[in-house]
Amino acid sequence: MFRAMVVEKDEDGKTHAAMQQLDEARLPDGNVTVAVEYSTVNYKDGLCLGPGGGLVKTYPHVPGIDFAGTVSASDDARFAVGDPVVLNGWRVGEIRWGGYAETARVDGDMLVHLPDAITTRQAMAIGTAGYTAMLSVIALEDHGLVPGAGPVLVTGAAGGVGSVATAILAKLGHEVAAVTGRPETEGYLRDLGATQIVPREQINETVKRPLEAESWAGCIDAVGGPMLARVLGQMKYGASVAAVGLAGGAGLPATVIPFLLRGVNLLGIDSVMRPHADRVRAWERLAADLPMDKLEAMVVPATLDDLPKLGADILKGQVRGRVVVDVR
Ligand code: NDP
Repeated sequence: MFRAMVVEKDEDGKTHAAMQQLDEARLPDGNVTVAVEYSTVNYKDGLCLGPGGGLVKTYPHVPGIDFAGTVSASDDARFAVGDPVVLNGWRVGEIRWGGYAETARVDGDMLVHLPDAITTRQAMAIGTAGYTAMLSVIALEDHGLVPGAGPVLVTGAAGGVGSVATAILAKLGHEVAAVTGRPETEGYLRDLGATQIVPREQINETVKRPLEAESWAGCIDAVGGPMLARVLGQMKYGASVAAVGLAGGAGLPATVIPFLLRGVNLLGIDSVMRPHADRVRAWERLAADLPMDKLEAMVVPATLDDLPKLGADILKGQVRGRVVVDVR
């Protein structure tokens, strides 16, 4: 038996999340079983802990789109009992049971061995948000971003993706301009390495002029919507924006002028179906380039019992930094 946060759907279509004891016989198919140690709370988890936003297909459901733990049984030659592993995405926690449980079963193809320098707790302090932040930094570097090129803008900076992106960019020697709608997070963001704080309202208005002053050498955008549209017109010549999130909306009320006249690049960042080699590269870079003391400052500790409230909080944009759920 193992403990899990289970979401049930009643006859009226309402969902209810509660702790349950489950028999291991109910675990989904998969060739590797993991003793989950830590998980975290992402926007998608907020959706899946509630009515699901269309992500969950069958109930009862165990959410949790990422987890870290140790292998407890394996029919996959690449994984031995006791190996520390991390899982991000692959629609685990959406269309199959996820990490809000003491035990999870998945395919070995979905798992990445944790680098020695990263503990299972740190892996979930990083979580999908941090791993995606690293994918974004790599994408900007692959498109020519180097330290000294000018400030790199991070939107939604006090959130999970933004916090980790800020810390990594600062460690790599970039100036970081952090966009936040929460002025009270200024001290937190400066401690992570932000050199400039940009109030959200300053950059959230609809595009009036397709090109503005060339301000940013790169951007990691967790917000989308009017803010991303506005940022495109503020990029330096040839600079790139990594589009990660939609905390401010899925629309893009932009013009194509920044692409045509300034050679701006809009880089799409998907973490969920990412090929294995990219995942390994990102986790190795996190081990090298994310200051673990800064990571610790982002951690908000939680347990499985806290999840229904935390899920509701993240949907309202009220979670700061990285929630680490101790599953044991
Ligand atoms: P968080 O909720 O932790 O952070 C989002 C931040 O965005 C908030 O903290 C807030 O930052 C800002 N924000 C919220 N609402 C608005 C708004 N209406 N207008 C402008 N800014 C807003 O989420 P995560 O960091 O975990 O994820 C960020 C986004 O990235 C989400 O949309 C998520 O779905 C997406 N994502 C995408 C992935 C991918 O594979 N592409 C993987 C992981 C996440 P502040 O208070 O500082 O303003």
